[in-house]
Amino acid sequence: MRIALDFDDVLSRFLEATIAKLNFVHDLDIELEDIKGWNMDEYIDCTKEQLFATWTPKFIESVPFRDGARKLVDDLKALGHEVVIATACFAPTHEFREKICMDYLGLISEDVIFIKKKYLLNVDVLVDDKLDNFMDSDSLPCEFEKVVYNMPHNQNSSKLGLHYRVNDLSEIVGVVETIQKNRCK
Ligand SMILES: [Mg+2]
Repeated sequence: MRIALDFDDVLSRFLEATIAKLNFVHDLDIELEDIKGWNMDEYIDCTKEQLFATWTPKFIESVPFRDGARKLVDDLKALGHEVVIATACFAPTHEFREKICMDYLGLISEDVIFIKKKYLLNVDVLVDDKLDNFMDSDSLPCEFEKVVYNMPHNQNSSKLGLHYRVNDLSEIVGVVETIQKNRCK
């Protein structure tokens, strides 16, 4: 199958790193569980401007991978799947992101797709943490299989219809195998 993996908050700890920086710079006490929706400035004592100021190219480059990111890509490829990274990151960080996907995930530049409208992806499975990425321009659920990386901000997913949830990268291969079995029935 063709499998697209989101980068921020699927393969990486973007939100946790953002919170750590905000807490340090503005002397706050934000926790991951406080962020209960996509627009995080609505849930914390920070302005949009302060939030956006956090996301410098240098910060983006410092965000760590989750444990098992490389293993996930390798395992999916070993099972015969085609793996791409589908990321909506800021344009100034495209070059860096492509490079770390090549250096740390063993991918080639063609495997990294910079895309905001993920409903246009021609894939069998999307793994993402942003619920809107599983909906098309008419706010209808996409045709591809939806695997939601569990985060406090994506708990209300009733509009998605059938979907899967994972709490850790190590669960994704099993979910992909379940999807494949169900498709063969
Ligand atoms: Mg994401």
